[in-house]
Amino acid sequence: MESFRGCAWLVPLAGVQIVAGCSNFCSYCIVPHVRGPEASRPAASIVEEVAVIGGGGVREVTLLGQNVNAYGREPGFAGAEDFSEVLERVNLVPGIERVRFMTSHPKDMSGPSARPAGVSEPRLRAPAPAGAVGE
Ligand code: SF4
Repeated sequence: MESFRGCAWLVPLAGVQIVAGCSNFCSYCIVPHVRGPEASRPAASIVEEVAVIGGGGVREVTLLGQNVNAYGREPGFAGAEDFSEVLERVNLVPGIERVRFMTSHPKDMSGPSARPAGVSEPRLRAPAPAGAVGE
């Protein structure tokens, strides 16, 4: 049991959903069929939730969605923000020291959404799914 010492989490973490569903219909994936097309959550609602959990002691927040880079792009979305603006707004919430996100789709990473102002994290992780080609 000695080897399991020192594994405690030291930073309060939380996940906040910003996009539901997915509109990509990759051939091997069930997500769009079971969760429906992309639907973005209003930015004000996201910032409000982050402010509440930040006030409660959370210091690191992960913004969640099947494809966070497609935030706000679906037809009929009422908000004006794109993903980079959501990142910037969440980054300004008092108490929040680190903002992460997952997952990203490379085809939707471009311009400001690939490098939002005020976000200093130099690393970017992108999924590279590999579907089975037979049984
Ligand atoms: S982008 Fe991801 S979630 Fe969407 S269909 Fe493709 S593999 Fe599935």
